[in-house]
Amino acid sequence: MKQSLAGLSLAELTELLKPLPVFRARQLFRHLCCGTRSFAEMTDFSLSLRESMERRFSLYSSEVAQRFVDRDGSVKLQIDLSDGARIEAVLLSDENGRKTACLSTQAGCPMGCVFCKTGSLGFNRNLTSAEMTEQFLHLQAAAGSRINNVVVMGMGEPLLNMTELRKTLLFLTGQDFGSRQFSKRKVTVSTCGIVAGIRELAENGPDVRIALSLTTADEDLRGRLMKASAANPLSALRNALLSYQQRRKRRITLEAVLLGGVNTRQKDVDALTVFVQGLDVAVNLIPWNPVVGALFEGAPLRQPSRAETDGFAERLRKQKVNVTVRLKRGRGIAGACGQLGRLSDTRV
Ligand code: SF4
Repeated sequence: MKQSLAGLSLAELTELLKPLPVFRARQLFRHLCCGTRSFAEMTDFSLSLRESMERRFSLYSSEVAQRFVDRDGSVKLQIDLSDGARIEAVLLSDENGRKTACLSTQAGCPMGCVFCKTGSLGFNRNLTSAEMTEQFLHLQAAAGSRINNVVVMGMGEPLLNMTELRKTLLFLTGQDFGSRQFSKRKVTVSTCGIVAGIRELAENGPDVRIALSLTTADEDLRGRLMKASAANPLSALRNALLSYQQRRKRRITLEAVLLGGVNTRQKDVDALTVFVQGLDVAVNLIPWNPVVGALFEGAPLRQPSRAETDGFAERLRKQKVNVTVRLKRGRGIAGACGQLGRLSDTRV
């Protein structure tokens, strides 16, 4: 199989192209970052050099298998990896035209959150940094204009794939990425709460934002909804967030997927109010995006009603919790939070 080039760092490309001079690696790197799709388009290389590169290398290791466009402008890409695994990446557009790329870090996910389609697929494997960066490049081609933010919130638990995640984050926020370089505050990593991973980010960076998918601060209920959370108890999680905040001086986003009649009780308001004390956090409430067949302890999950969502938010506000109800973007293409991997032809 040919070595693919997209997603490699400038240093790696330089090494690979030796004995060609460094400026050739720079040229190639620029092409890859701009989304050039074939060697033939690289007319600043001689024909013989293009032919020789084409014999040795391919540009991408993955390919877009299907593309879905929602009425709200969001785009979901189903992407086939070189070993046949299929993953999904989403481009979310807000009402002001700002675009956010949502990247996956694993094929499937081992965490088994009951409200999430990806969790029901089981775990296949970690993605490489190149496979994550390629998702961004595919989304960039689909966007047709600048992407403003990156969230690592797609399929998989990012902090269980730390080495490759770090390489991807350094690529996207690195100077080599030129005018496309992301400020670290425009990049958010979402975790369901891997204590060791949060501590690792606090200690060694990179200095991106983090979002914690908390769901509820009631430990017992959380353990039943997010099966892998038992290894990361809330007290340890809160301490890890505190040390992240002390070290990185960044506000943390807490996310709670609201499940009708399950985690919208007064007990959840009280537990969340206690959990956020002393933390600089913004709480995002996300009314559950439906996943066909999702059950909680034998009963079908349901979306919260509007009144249930607003009432929950209001009770938190009364406790002086900084809370926002999030819009449901990408739902029409099963590209919203928790829905990735939903289409019947998806396999991992
Ligand atoms: S919510 Fe995130 S961590 Fe939980 S199963 Fe889904 S992808 Fe995995």
